[in-house]
Amino acid sequence: MTTSTAATRAPYAELDAAVRGELIMPADPGYDQARAVYNAMIDKHPAAIARCRDTADVITCVRFARQHGLEIAVRGGGHNAAGFGVWDDALVIDLSALRSTTVDPRGHTVRADAGCTWGDVDHATVAFGMATPSGFLASTGVAGLTLGGGIGYLARRFGLTVDNLIAADVVLADGTFVTASESSHSDLFWALRGGGGNFGIVTSFTFRCHDIGEAGTIIGGPVFYDLADTPEVMRWYRELIPSLPEELSGWIALVTIPPAPPFPEELWGRTACGIVWCYTGPHDQADEVLEPVRAYGSPLLVGLQPMPFTVLQSAFDALYPAGLQWYWKTDFFNEISDAAIDVHVKYGAQLPTGHSTMHLYPIDGAASRVPADATAFAYRDGGWAGVIVGVDPDPANAGRISQWAQDYWEELHPASAGGGYINFLMNEGQDRVKASYRGNYDRLAQIKKRYDPDNTFHINQNIQPAGGLNP
Ligand SMILES: Cc1cc2nc3c(=O)[nH]c(=O)nc-3n(C[C@H](O)[C@H](O)[C@H](O)COP(=O)(O)OP(=O)(O)OC[C@H]3O[C@@H](n4cnc5c(N)ncnc54)[C@H](O)[C@@H]3O)c2cc1C
Repeated sequence: MTTSTAATRAPYAELDAAVRGELIMPADPGYDQARAVYNAMIDKHPAAIARCRDTADVITCVRFARQHGLEIAVRGGGHNAAGFGVWDDALVIDLSALRSTTVDPRGHTVRADAGCTWGDVDHATVAFGMATPSGFLASTGVAGLTLGGGIGYLARRFGLTVDNLIAADVVLADGTFVTASESSHSDLFWALRGGGGNFGIVTSFTFRCHDIGEAGTIIGGPVFYDLADTPEVMRWYRELIPSLPEELSGWIALVTIPPAPPFPEELWGRTACGIVWCYTGPHDQADEVLEPVRAYGSPLLVGLQPMPFTVLQSAFDALYPAGLQWYWKTDFFNEISDAAIDVHVKYGAQLPTGHSTMHLYPIDGAASRVPADATAFAYRDGGWAGVIVGVDPDPANAGRISQWAQDYWEELHPASAGGGYINFLMNEGQDRVKASYRGNYDRLAQIKKRYDPDNTFHINQNIQPAGGLNP
């Protein structure tokens, strides 16, 4: 751990001369822009931001920080809920300029640098009719999402993002560089698949890709129901999802229909229960697979249509630009119980702002066939990851959206499986981190001791080295 004195006195001119990338200091004109992350509720003032140009820059920064007793914050896509990509008085090792991708269409792999967003990767792979499992948004960073697990449209069919990770290039806490895979540093590779940024700085990821839809065109989009129909829709959905072919997935949400095209004007601003579907199988079987969805209930809007996977992945990016206030609460759920539905109905009727929402993402199918101890990501029970997010552009509403999310979570939590998705946690302390890793925490702590005994990488959902820090 360091003090702000160390942060102020470090000889940054030396670092500036040693790296190829830009070193941004508090007095520089671009500092405020460079320290801003996706969640505008986060307002941290780092000592310096090193926008790395290559792996050598990352190694140089890690060694410099160690030598001068500086805290290190690591930034990939900058989307982390708790804002761990930036920290007061730390040296921010910013990877956002590292955005190359390399697709091997024959081998069905993609290699992505650590500053890529999922939009970068989908753009690269969907051109070849394939994709690797990611999330539900294009603007999220590959690095943080992958290291936490990765829950997205393709999870039912092909598993989580970590289940499709083949290798990762990593700069370790002592400044050395390794490639982790099943056959090299396999303990580190296990820990990287869900253990977050605790074990080193990943500079590039290699993923397995899968053919999807017809040459990358899938059938997807939202179906909205009246908010009053929520109890029936949720009961139908909880039975339907496990019975569906794994080519079809859908996450359920309580939302306000956005007041903008392509939504019909008569629905603008109306609160609703929505399911966003994605079918990635052969199109000649689509009618049969989607029949139960099309046949159910009295939807306000059915937005299902063929589209490139990249279009579905980026469909919500414009609604949620960087710079909004965000407050998150999460849990895993083995079931969507009647008691839980009562809570959803209550708080869905009180959405505090137009952007605020609740989502339940399926983690079943292929994602749940992976044993709980096969990767650091431990929740493989075959249920859902839930997230309640208070969101609004206006900082004056920060308290209101946070309170709504907290109250909602308090009432819902007893119906949960315990623990939550670490990528949706705020800075909630060790008990929540341990609960999220379930039976895998002790093994993670042992691996942390091997690779980062001084807890150099601690600005994250922290796993502390087994046996405590070195004296
Ligand atoms: C709008 C929105 C939508 C989201 N949707 C999904 C979704 O669909 N599915 C899903 O699974 N998650 C989703 N998330 C959660 C997302 O996975 C996390 O916020 C994740 O931390 C973002 O990664 P990042 O690289 O953008 O973030 P950052 O803030 O840059 O980093 C996140 C964490 O990872 C560490 N880190 C970053 N890069 C590296 C690296 N190269 N090496 C080591 N450590 C690193 C950071 O230190 C930090 O602790 C969403 C988040 C947002 C804000």
